[in-house]
Amino acid sequence: MILTYRNEIHESAYSFSFLFVCLFIVYSIFVRFFNMKYIMLFVGIVLCVFPTTAQTKHRVDLFPLDHVRLLEGPFLSSQQTDLRYLLALEPDRLLSPFLREAGLQPKAPSYPNWENMGLDGHIGGHYMSALSMMYAATGNAEAKQRLDYFLDELKRCQDHVGTGFIGGTPGSLALWEEIKRGDIRAGSFDLNGKWVPLYNIHKTYNGLLDAWKHTGSVQARDMLVKYTDWMMDITSGLSDEQMQEMLKSEHGGLNEVFAAVYEITGEKKYLQLARRFSHLEILRPLMQEKDSLTGMHANTQIPKVIGFKRIADNENDADWDRAARFFWKTVTENRSVCIGGNSVREHFNPPDDFGAMIEEVEGPETCNTYNMLRLTGMLYASSPEVYLMDYYEKALFNHILSSEEPERGGFVYFTPMRPGHYRVYSQPETSFWCCVGTGLENHAKYGESIYAHDKNALYVNLFIPSRVTWEEKGIVFSQHTRFPNDGAVDFVFDDAENKKLALKLRIPSWVVEPEKIKVFVNDELLQFGAVTGEYLTLEGKWEKGDRVSLHLPMQVNLVQMPDKSPFYAFQYGPIVLAASMGTEDLKGLYADDSRGGHIPQGRRIPLSEIPTFIGTPAEIESSLHKTADEELRFVYVGETFPEREDMEFVPFYGLHNRRYLIYFPQADREQEQFNKDYPADY
Ligand SMILES: [Zn+2]
Repeated sequence: MILTYRNEIHESAYSFSFLFVCLFIVYSIFVRFFNMKYIMLFVGIVLCVFPTTAQTKHRVDLFPLDHVRLLEGPFLSSQQTDLRYLLALEPDRLLSPFLREAGLQPKAPSYPNWENMGLDGHIGGHYMSALSMMYAATGNAEAKQRLDYFLDELKRCQDHVGTGFIGGTPGSLALWEEIKRGDIRAGSFDLNGKWVPLYNIHKTYNGLLDAWKHTGSVQARDMLVKYTDWMMDITSGLSDEQMQEMLKSEHGGLNEVFAAVYEITGEKKYLQLARRFSHLEILRPLMQEKDSLTGMHANTQIPKVIGFKRIADNENDADWDRAARFFWKTVTENRSVCIGGNSVREHFNPPDDFGAMIEEVEGPETCNTYNMLRLTGMLYASSPEVYLMDYYEKALFNHILSSEEPERGGFVYFTPMRPGHYRVYSQPETSFWCCVGTGLENHAKYGESIYAHDKNALYVNLFIPSRVTWEEKGIVFSQHTRFPNDGAVDFVFDDAENKKLALKLRIPSWVVEPEKIKVFVNDELLQFGAVTGEYLTLEGKWEKGDRVSLHLPMQVNLVQMPDKSPFYAFQYGPIVLAASMGTEDLKGLYADDSRGGHIPQGRRIPLSEIPTFIGTPAEIESSLHKTADEELRFVYVGETFPEREDMEFVPFYGLHNRRYLIYFPQADREQEQFNKDYPADY
């Protein structure tokens, strides 16, 4: 095997420069020897061959889910727990609202909670997505049978209504007739008196799309196109102003789905529909790189932006692409806490004031991070940069993985950052919130972003035990690691055809001492000057059995609340650490079927009872000591007030069914009374 290696990511920039120089030389020859007619012909050919701008063109592809299998580790466990939860749901109960609205006899009663309070049917859409992903990711036959049954039943509904419509919102047919007539009364969370019906049907659209994308169901594709034609008919008589009025109501990412239907059919009318479903009030400031998000309902906006990006990719629209990139940047850099989540009471707080994030129990919502990861993946496809995957890793390990209870499999809605509070878990019989829907999907699709590829390179982005099959290249590549318990990751070419290929290993930005990074190829240590935040490229003719080992140095670091208030959290590498704060009054730990069952309403421990960590940030950071070799356990040996001895910190993702401390207040010695300044009921 001949190997070369380098630590950089900008080779594509070189190739674009090279392409430009070549074009210039050819152009000069044309100008010198040919007349204008040939020059125009040449320009035309160039425009046809290179019609896209570098900004929006896909430069890498993620592997389809059925090409990646998880191996033993916390993510595989989480996926299997999710499968059990998914199969605990009864399809006939989820189908009930769809049959009812289609005028057919339901076979079972609806589920309770949000499934019979107006958002009827929303989980059915997520269920189709999750079954599709789960089948692709695991090959589980029962998931496929359930999916096929669900599709057959929905087809029966669609055929019976006859217009292409499918949906579970109570009074659907009359509602959409009103909309078609231009009778539009839109509020943020309602449309003509119904609970976000556009948001609701978006889940059904997505379910059909995922069944096509992940399982190749032609039936799902045909139903999706018919369903989209129905929406074209409903909105065909509406003016652009009426459309924008309607879009004041939460509508998920309908613009994204319609752009996807364009990709499937190649028919421009669907792309036009996608544009008509794009909410300009959100788009316009973002195109000017203006953040006016404070106070907005966070999860209403994120899917709209995913749609902007997908439309941008299809139409090479640099302005819409810029809007999506700016949104991602401002949300991840200015509006996200250490677990990668955002929002308080579902709304964006001011970036210079995270006081409510500490005070309130309705911290980051899991759906938001689900959608931020989708947006990150789309941005990554057109610009495969390490910083995007740094965020992805942070949010996946610290928020998404942590949002599923490992024993019973319940999902989390709010993850309070309030010191000493706790989370509530869903139950399959009682809980039908949005975060149950996205939760069903989250843990099925871990294989989605571990790897990526372009024509000649395999990218390794996440350190998760797994095996990827790259059929076109005859490569089977596996990853074995105990990460984040330690920073050693072993890669093996289980199959390879001895052809030239670049292996690109992500060197994360959280590595503080890059000089300590070690890479071995077939046990031989490579000498290189590693740079963090970039890819290390190993180029060679790989053979079956070739091995690569990557050793990343990990260490404790302290991160501050984004508003620079004196609240800090410990991380080990990218892993957020938390301390247990006991099991006192975990009211509603497993949610009942009430409207607000997802909110942790037990006692709020006053901040005056929470230990303030005393000392400078550097002193506090150096007072956390690792106490175990094989797993991540740490003890804090510094000062606190009130005094607490030997506080133990572990990865937040593994801390369940209890109160916890992620962010803690910090005070210098002279401010020792800091936490006494808080009112007792804070
Ligand atoms: Zn949610």
